[in-house]
Amino acid sequence: MHDTMVKYDVKSNQAAEFINDAEIRASIEYAATHSDDRALIEEILAKAAEGGGLNHREAAVLLACGEESIIERIFSLARSIKQRIYGNRIVMFAPLYLSNYCINGCTYCPYHAINRTIPRRKLSQEEIRREVIALQDMGHKRLALEAGEHPKYSPIEYILESIDTIYSIHHRNGAIRRVNVNIAATSIEEYKMLKDAGIGTYILFQETYSRQRYEQLHPTGPKSNWAYHTEAMDRAMIGGIDDVGIGALFGLTDYRYDFVALLMHAEHLEARFGVGPHTISVPRIRPASDIDLRDFNNGVSDEMFRRIVAVLRLAVPYTGMIISTRESKRSRELVLDVGVSQLSGGSRTSVGGYAQNIEQEQIEESAQFDISDVRSLDEIVAWLLELGYVPSFCTACYREGRTGDRFMSLAKRGLIGDCCSPNALMTLREYMEDYASEHTRTLAEKVIAEQVELIPSERVREITRRRLQEIGCGKRDFRF
Ligand code: SF4
Ligand code: SF4
Repeated sequence: MHDTMVKYDVKSNQAAEFINDAEIRASIEYAATHSDDRALIEEILAKAAEGGGLNHREAAVLLACGEESIIERIFSLARSIKQRIYGNRIVMFAPLYLSNYCINGCTYCPYHAINRTIPRRKLSQEEIRREVIALQDMGHKRLALEAGEHPKYSPIEYILESIDTIYSIHHRNGAIRRVNVNIAATSIEEYKMLKDAGIGTYILFQETYSRQRYEQLHPTGPKSNWAYHTEAMDRAMIGGIDDVGIGALFGLTDYRYDFVALLMHAEHLEARFGVGPHTISVPRIRPASDIDLRDFNNGVSDEMFRRIVAVLRLAVPYTGMIISTRESKRSRELVLDVGVSQLSGGSRTSVGGYAQNIEQEQIEESAQFDISDVRSLDEIVAWLLELGYVPSFCTACYREGRTGDRFMSLAKRGLIGDCCSPNALMTLREYMEDYASEHTRTLAEKVIAEQVELIPSERVREITRRRLQEIGCGKRDFRF
């Protein structure tokens, strides 16, 4: 299969080289002509079953395969790989929107500069305090900061000050222990500042990897520079951020193009820096203010979306996969078992949406996109428990210095689960003690009691039991 690949330099520092258009098109073509090549598919499935991942071409072939029995095998393999690496834990987080002022012209986003129909807002440090207290009172420990790009309203100094504010707030037993940041592509120098501020993952979605489509969708503003945007993760890595989160907004262009390119991006980071992306997000385009979905006719069906998630799970087994509240309860349920490992809950995509301290109507009008899953965090935690998952509020790795290649080497040797399981149970116990409704508490108690017995190491099991008891007595923040 490699012989047929277009020759390109996966380690190049040039976006047009590592996201090689000819190779993406050749891969799509190759996948289409081999989608019923049984021998090849069996070979790829066998490789996937070993758990070492797949390259973009192999993944493209599996995605193109339309035969029902093969699709079922892909789902089942994705399920078992997910179980092997992540167990039944699902890490919870919430987005926090700081500002919706933006100088870019992204045609699919209501924050685009010329949208006059939404109120613009930027949170003051005092308003951030109120948002964070509201998030802590829900039980969140992990946030993803979001802000539009604006040199005057959200310069790096504002983002850094906001991160400091967030980490400094300890309301009752609450604390935000990990702040991931999703802001516009920036310079190595500013990535260094973010690293020094103690961020978790730096997240930036490519939106679409197709340069031509990207340039149509981003007619104005700094983000219109496709190469600068696509090379952002390289600069972040050079700036010292070794946990980066990539993603494509499925529906902007042919999903096959973005699927292949997303994996080529992961391969590039691994080849150049020795560590692939920490997470991959799989958003799909949603209705929003001033956005006409008829402009985007590349919609991805629920069925194909599930296949995308499952094949990504096979291709990059050690990369966390994130799904947001853009997706409905039903479609979230469909992708949870085949690959997704992180979920947002109780989200507000409007600026100031958690503390409800500004006019409700104004908050809702300032939302970035409509939310499909509008349930509270407590309802989502209960739902996950009922489905047999263990909702986790763990933030241990980056606080223990397990980032970048240190994290990946533990993950690839199958050792990270030894930390994840007890951490999930201890943080769930904290949630149960401090925030859960009666119903959720009862469910959590049962799941914790069952799951603690499944911890393989006797020593870790014993320590976890002891710590769970101590959490019941008021102690907090244990971690492996
Ligand atoms: Fe601004 Fe981001 Fe929206 Fe583009 S997607 S308009 S950069 S907030
Ligand atoms: Fe994530 Fe690390 Fe916690 Fe596991 S131990 S859930 S990998 S932060």
